[in-house]
Amino acid sequence: MAYVTEDMNSKNEKGGTFLCEACGLTETYHYYGCKPPFHKGVTFLENCYVLRDPFQNGSGGSFLLLGGECTSCSRVVCQDTSCSLFYTKRFCLNCANANIEEFPPEIHQRIKKDLASTTKMYKN
Ligand SMILES: [Zn+2]
Ligand SMILES: [Zn+2]
Repeated sequence: MAYVTEDMNSKNEKGGTFLCEACGLTETYHYYGCKPPFHKGVTFLENCYVLRDPFQNGSGGSFLLLGGECTSCSRVVCQDTSCSLFYTKRFCLNCANANIEEFPPEIHQRIKKDLASTTKMYKN
């Protein structure tokens, strides 16, 4: 299982290495924050790790949102539906499940479904 080293998830505006603390995915990121400089006019609802699309240059290029920090436990989690859930704020699936009453019923379904496929990671 991967663990966080100093250059990982360092919230560096200029980029670094992103590590999902739930699934262990690592990926280079180019920007951390909510207003990516390479995509004018975009403001995210949270500070997050962003990867610039390697196949495009200049402003207006597309990008990939890698993930962000769980509002509740501060773990960094990727966008994968089995790692995080964005409902007004980002939650890792573990915290989403712990606070399931806070979510509307249609989200419950999703949390339960996703947890069923990841229970091996969350043994309590
Ligand atoms: Zn992940
Ligand atoms: Zn969490």
